[in-house]
Amino acid sequence: MDACLFCEIARGKTKTQLIYEDDEVAAFNDIYPKAEVHILVIPKMHIATLNDATSEHQQLLGKLMLCASQIASTHNKLGNGYKLIMNVGKGGGQTVEHIHLHILGGKRLNHETN
Ligand code: AMP
Ligand code: ZN
Repeated sequence: MDACLFCEIARGKTKTQLIYEDDEVAAFNDIYPKAEVHILVIPKMHIATLNDATSEHQQLLGKLMLCASQIASTHNKLGNGYKLIMNVGKGGGQTVEHIHLHILGGKRLNHETN
């Protein structure tokens, strides 16, 4: 496998600061935010896209959702709610091939296009 940017971030090998971390999941701010708050939540395990996930990953994918909810619930700009997005494959707009959830919220949230 070629070096994966999000695997490197999860391992703390880049300058990107993690805003949440446990043994299975990490979260950090998107480098090109599409909303006032734009956080990415990733499994530390490399899974390229949702279509590469299997029943083995069921617990981990559930945890990813719950971590997103937990991160959002403690964020002072997400009290009114937020949008959770996972792009899948090139056709779905996925540019980084390591599963990630986008948490989008605060101002500049475009409900038409996101
Ligand atoms: P997607 O298009 O769903 O694959 O989302 C990939 C996201 O990763 C985009 O919103 C990018 O802005 C973001 N991104 C790319 N490189 C970095 C990086 N080094 N640190 C943080 N976010 C990044
Ligand atoms: Zn990876």
